[in-house]
Amino acid sequence: MLNGKMSLRSRHVPGGLYFGPPAWDAPVWPARDIADGSPPAELPTTSASLRELLLRLKLTSHDLWTPALIDQLTSPTIRDVVLNLIAPQPESILPRVLSEFEMPRLVAGLNLVRRCVSAVKTRLAVPREEAELRYQWRGAAKANQFTIHPLINRYPLGHPSILLRALLGLKLQPGASPADVGVVLLDPMTCWILGCWIEFGTLPQWRPVELFTHNATPRVIAANIGQSLAHILSDAGIIYQNRQCIINGMMAGELVDPEKTVLEPSIRMISIRPVPIAEDPVDCIRCGWCVSACPVGLNPAGLMAQVRVIDSLPAISAREASACIDCGLCSYVCPSRLPLTVTINALKATVGQDHQSGVSA
Ligand code: SF4
Ligand code: SF4
Repeated sequence: MLNGKMSLRSRHVPGGLYFGPPAWDAPVWPARDIADGSPPAELPTTSASLRELLLRLKLTSHDLWTPALIDQLTSPTIRDVVLNLIAPQPESILPRVLSEFEMPRLVAGLNLVRRCVSAVKTRLAVPREEAELRYQWRGAAKANQFTIHPLINRYPLGHPSILLRALLGLKLQPGASPADVGVVLLDPMTCWILGCWIEFGTLPQWRPVELFTHNATPRVIAANIGQSLAHILSDAGIIYQNRQCIINGMMAGELVDPEKTVLEPSIRMISIRPVPIAEDPVDCIRCGWCVSACPVGLNPAGLMAQVRVIDSLPAISAREASACIDCGLCSYVCPSRLPLTVTINALKATVGQDHQSGVSA
């Protein structure tokens, strides 16, 4: 088990929320065996054979934020491979912990992917504030001809559309894959799992999971895939009864019942908090905070106002809403506690319905 100390600084500046680097003090990586096995005799060498391997290993979505690698291997021409070391949630330290303790496996997985897709360039997207993380990757980058790109960590920079715009100036249409613009985006977990397979010839039956709870030090633990969250939390000495359990981050995560939920490969973070006292929403005060926080330049207040007159909703607004990346920032900053994100999500859903019912867009 890995214990550590973490603090998070945040500040609101025009254009969005910026988070300072989390401080992390990690003495040891949890010693956890990967089942013995011989290294695979043959490694894939093409995009098609890598796809076959991912299917065979059932390695599909291991990170909810970065699109699954398998879905990105449909494009014939990939120019760039980007390893996304920008944390998908501001409080996440998983990229840093994996880099610190599992660098050889990460590099092996990354090299496998770049060779299979014949990428011309391999880049590492790293938060500029994380000097330690950049330092950890410096030697590997030099030896393997990766380039390190430090970026100011503006949440939700880890999202593909924001990352590609910031890193390469490429615009990703809503719903498109990074591969559509010639880039494969890799998350550190997928890289690590591929690296484990190269080294041990088998997939790990566990994954690192970040645990957050109030009044306790945040931790990264090794937890068995398929185990109930209740079991994992009890083992970690965390009281979850009569509290809320949120998976994959407080900003855009999902509320679950730990008794009824098992650890999926894509669950990277479990947060436990007291049940909040609900604040009733009040009328919009037109402060504009939601507009300045939205990383894709939407007007959440305007969209919400239109939903209230849904009968006359212009299809163009629904199409605009489809650019929403579900980051939750508008709801987070709204002083009137308006349910902006869920409302815009409902609006997004009407785009598909309009198509089905033949309503002109
Ligand atoms: S949830 Fe959607 S509308 Fe709200 S800030 Fe994020 S991208 Fe913009
Ligand atoms: S942040 Fe809330 S109160 Fe302010 S303009 Fe947006 S919806 Fe209205």
